[in-house]
Amino acid sequence: MESAWPEGLIRDVPDFPTEGIIFKDITPLLDDGDALRWAADALADRFSGTPADRVVGVEARGFILGAAVAYRLGLGFVPFRKPGKLPYSTLSVDYQLEYGTASLEAHTDALSSGQRVLIVDDVLATGGTAAAAVELVNSGDAEVVGAGFLIELGFLGGRARLGNGCPVTSLFCYGGSDGPS
Ligand code: AMP
Repeated sequence: MESAWPEGLIRDVPDFPTEGIIFKDITPLLDDGDALRWAADALADRFSGTPADRVVGVEARGFILGAAVAYRLGLGFVPFRKPGKLPYSTLSVDYQLEYGTASLEAHTDALSSGQRVLIVDDVLATGGTAAAAVELVNSGDAEVVGAGFLIELGFLGGRARLGNGCPVTSLFCYGGSDGPS
């Protein structure tokens, strides 16, 4: 665990968006300038030894942290979005969420062959979203060199879905067997 201070700014909201889900609400952390900077810096530091060309952020909260990490690393930022949001031609992947199903889209020209990509999101839960993001990156012949999350719900085993070839790091891991790396 990095520190007890910013972790206290992650709020558990029971039964949102559906019964039985404990939603990790990061808005109190985002509301605190020092905590937001700490989170972006800490995630960027985890990738400091990983040569990369782009940061992908997953809509919506992944945009906030992903863009901050991209800024810190001096890399371009690529948004992966929910269906119908991107204006240009898109690639699409369907996947399972912890609480339902969803699709993820990327512009067809968002990534180039051979580019090394870091994926950033707020929460790694079942890993379906991150696995879909990996699939989208790979469909453009780019390569995922790392995935970083503020929070990992380790008891859901999401990192296993990303495979050994994708190093996963998280700042706060709950109930995981792997723990943050
Ligand atoms: P998953 O695909 O199951 O790994 O879910 C990850 C995505 O869903 C992330 O984009 C999260 O923002 C969101 N998510 C899933 N579970 C939670 C949770 N318990 N609290 C907050 N966000 C969640």
